[in-house]
Amino acid sequence: MHVTPPKPREWLKTTTGIYCEPGDFHIDPTAPVDRAVITHGHGDHARPNNRHVLATDGTLAIMRARFGEEAGGQLQSAAYGERIRIGEVDVTLVPAGHVLGSAQIVLEYRGSRVVVSGDYKRRPDATCAPFELQPCDVFITEATFGLPVFRHPPDCHEIDKLLHSLRLFPERCHVIGVYALGKCQRVLTMLRHRGYQEPVYLHGALITLCDLYCAHGVDLGPVLPCAGVPPAALKGRIVLAPPGATNDRWARKLPDVVVGMASGWMRVRQRAKARGVELPLVISDHADWDELIATLEEVGAPEIWVTHGREEALIHQAQLMGLRARALSIAGFEEED
Ligand SMILES: [Zn+2]
Ligand SMILES: [Zn+2]
Repeated sequence: MHVTPPKPREWLKTTTGIYCEPGDFHIDPTAPVDRAVITHGHGDHARPNNRHVLATDGTLAIMRARFGEEAGGQLQSAAYGERIRIGEVDVTLVPAGHVLGSAQIVLEYRGSRVVVSGDYKRRPDATCAPFELQPCDVFITEATFGLPVFRHPPDCHEIDKLLHSLRLFPERCHVIGVYALGKCQRVLTMLRHRGYQEPVYLHGALITLCDLYCAHGVDLGPVLPCAGVPPAALKGRIVLAPPGATNDRWARKLPDVVVGMASGWMRVRQRAKARGVELPLVISDHADWDELIATLEEVGAPEIWVTHGREEALIHQAQLMGLRARALSIAGFEEED
């Protein structure tokens, strides 16, 4: 008797993240589970207290740094490309190009190949391994910037805006809002790439993850903690800080501040204004509209599922491209970046 193999939507469920039934594990679970496979260390994807965690070395290190003892019961690391059997499913982690350790999860079960991309981008980033295309039957994508209006400019233009402002205002302190995981280290490597070799000062909340990146072989150039540095010494310097700190009491003690922020959302003028950002830098760790579309074309999957972000436009676009597409509407993912 011929039995047709089950379709991915019969064995992949969207409860508490993405649940893979024949492997009995969750990908990026939004509440603690027995067995979790984690795409990357951002807080809406990696959460504490799972009993067993499978992730890359980089992601496990980030989870330990953030959660300590609560990173998980048993932590199992997977090298990129290493095939690991869980239940009846073969699981392989491949680079997603998003942040250090970030992975797409490739699932193979009874002849179908499904890729859960997590968050990803296609542009070069010196702080992590580049996105690797995986042909598949179902491609599960994010859509953080899934609207045609989101086209990120070339990264070097944005970093040059910062360097230009420094030359224009050599007496002012440039405080740039960056997320602690990924954006901070990427901005540092981009500055070095554009020839800026001066020390960059770090808000205390950024130091742990910068040390972690250095320990993983990412060269950030000279960085110094802000703490204890007299404000006058920060004239004409670049200070990196978490986005929430750029306008708080801490920042008001700095000399004649220019507030900047590095985020894909800086493409939206009102967001920059609302945050009091004078120097918006459109630097994103997520695929923009063109990168999303190019990825859908290149993976060649006949079916697309969209996890979080602006699903509707991307689904419509995928359908125009002749693909089957649907939204997974998983609650619990935020609009990081
Ligand atoms: Zn992320
Ligand atoms: Zn995300």
